[in-house]
Amino acid sequence: FARLKDGLKRSSSKLTTGIADIFTKRRLDDDALEEFEDLLITSDLGVTTAAKLSGELAKTRFDKEVDSAEIQEFIAEEVTKILDPVAKPLVLDPARKPHVVLVVGVNGSGKTTTIGKLAKSYKDQGLKVMMAAGDTFRAAAVEQLKVWGERTDCPVISRDTGADAAGLAYDAIEQAKRQGMDLLLIDTAGRLQNKSHLMDELKKIVRVIRKCDETAPHDTLLVLDATTGQNAHSQVELFSEATNVSGLIVTKLDGTAKGGVVVALAEKFGKPVHAIGVGESAEDLRPFEARNFARSLAG
Ligand code: GDP
Repeated sequence: FARLKDGLKRSSSKLTTGIADIFTKRRLDDDALEEFEDLLITSDLGVTTAAKLSGELAKTRFDKEVDSAEIQEFIAEEVTKILDPVAKPLVLDPARKPHVVLVVGVNGSGKTTTIGKLAKSYKDQGLKVMMAAGDTFRAAAVEQLKVWGERTDCPVISRDTGADAAGLAYDAIEQAKRQGMDLLLIDTAGRLQNKSHLMDELKKIVRVIRKCDETAPHDTLLVLDATTGQNAHSQVELFSEATNVSGLIVTKLDGTAKGGVVVALAEKFGKPVHAIGVGESAEDLRPFEARNFARSLAG
């Protein structure tokens, strides 16, 4: 919690400074409400959330004297309500050997790192975890995953650069089955330069995976970089066209002023947020908890 609070400091200080500016010894009038709404929008909470919160605030406190602590408390409460329904941990089905998780997202969003962190976390819980280096375009991505494999003592399935990612995913499931793995995490490429190619490739991976296990992938996680702010919205839309995105992981919430984007995503898409990244090391993947997040954001 302390780490999250620290990580969201820039997001929360933007909000708290803004709130202090608007609400210092002031009656809640139309101007204050408008400024409040603008502040929420520029803090990446999204137009819908901003309108909802300012409407709610007007309903209960219009023409009353309000102070900034009260407003922070109000935001924390309202944001908790929005986040509560999406704050869901990733649940693995123990009957599945393996539970197959496809991890998608644009390059640089933190996919590979998140896979390494997930591997570590489940391995520590005593599960048998395998990773597949499905970003076959980038040698560096494959190498990076291998490093995570050594670090977590989990096998990594890889092929040469340029190899067919779908074929690799198929092989990985077969090997994971043979070796009685509990969890298989499949990395994918995320080159946005050629969107239709990227989408075709993801569809092909899913199609081929199903030939090996018709119920797979059991989860498709979209990894989003919080520092991209509003771009995260178009990424959810884009990846949902190609794959059945079952949940989100939002990374780089340490040191960004755009942490509010998580609220906007929850409001707009209602997709489960399984975890958040607050740093680069293995311990920096945290469960997503509505109240803690809301409190950290509101300052
Ligand atoms: P990929 O291209 O989507 O696989 O992204 P990577 O996993 O290679 O991550 C890109 C960069 O972001 C790397 O330098 C990671 O160390 C860094 N990164 C990933 N997650 C986080 C996070 O939660 N916080 C911070 N500060 N950096 C992160």
